[in-house]
Amino acid sequence: MNKDFDIAIIGAGPAGLSAAIYAARGGLKPVLFEKMIHGGQITLTDEIENYPGIPESINGFDLADRMKKQADKFDVATKMEDVNSIKEDGKMKLIETSADTYSVKAVIVATGAQPRKLDVPGEQNFTGRGVSYCATCDGPLYRDAVVAVIGGGDSAVEEALFLTKFAKKVYLIHRRDKLRAVKIVQDRAFANEKIEIIWDTVVEEFAGDLMLKRAKLLNRKTGEHTELEIDGAFIFVGFVPNNELLTDFADMDERGFVKVNGKMETRTAGIYSAGDLNEKVLRQVITAAADGAIAAFSAEKWIEENFE
Ligand code: NAP
Repeated sequence: MNKDFDIAIIGAGPAGLSAAIYAARGGLKPVLFEKMIHGGQITLTDEIENYPGIPESINGFDLADRMKKQADKFDVATKMEDVNSIKEDGKMKLIETSADTYSVKAVIVATGAQPRKLDVPGEQNFTGRGVSYCATCDGPLYRDAVVAVIGGGDSAVEEALFLTKFAKKVYLIHRRDKLRAVKIVQDRAFANEKIEIIWDTVVEEFAGDLMLKRAKLLNRKTGEHTELEIDGAFIFVGFVPNNELLTDFADMDERGFVKVNGKMETRTAGIYSAGDLNEKVLRQVITAAADGAIAAFSAEKWIEENFE
């Protein structure tokens, strides 16, 4: 049993990294768990142009790296371990990971969210062979190719724009007749000659042989079925929260996003939730980072009141 730390922070995206920085500066000894690579979803983003203080824009991976360096500066211990469960043990919380069990006073869960699947035939089969959820990772493979982006939110439209750097044609397939993305991004898409929007349409199936070759489409207004020849399909239809660790400790909305109060408290004392995992109106780096800061501040006060 490891008893070296005051607080466990699970997930090293902007929320978790900010929580770690604030906890360490607040005098706590934090341990930060990450199962893959620090940065979370921002590492999938080519260009972040709305994080204040960086007017020249920054690549998501670079921003994550800068946050990690800042956490290192304050001696945050980072463990590349998969957290399996959180348990209550009297006043303490037990964090069971792939490598050890940690006994801590408080926990901040910042496990984020993952891309939602379309759940249509062929999607799983062609993942990695034409179907992708990351334009930054796979976009360069589609030089002079024809690709489709599915979705109408900020992610879909921004990534469609990004893909025009490589592809000769980008179809944006959206299920309604209006985009959800913010206006400035919409306007850029409307002005881009490589982007053609296919309105009121859903993908019913992905088809091909070894590689993806086409998407079978349904126009929801006319009922017409068509086939679109494509080399790649990028799916950006929102995210589902990674909420498994909090099932026994937090209330959630109907989509599984975690309900917290203004202090990032769940319904369980000493367990906090921060970032994209939470029910909120705006999922951004800035809101995730703010959640992490607030969660760490709240945890620090709670530990002071309950342990000293
Ligand atoms: P989102 O805003 O939830 O949009 C998801 C899109 O996918 C919507 O257009 C939705 O259609 C469509 N969709 C959902 N399920 C579908 C299905 N089964 N079949 C077809 N289409 C489906 O998700 P997001 O774009 O990933 O953005 C998530 C959050 O991150 C948002 O808060 C967004 O503002 C934020 N974000 C911000 C930036 C930025 O500021 N630069 C960049 C990326 C993301 P409907 O419109 O019909 O619902």
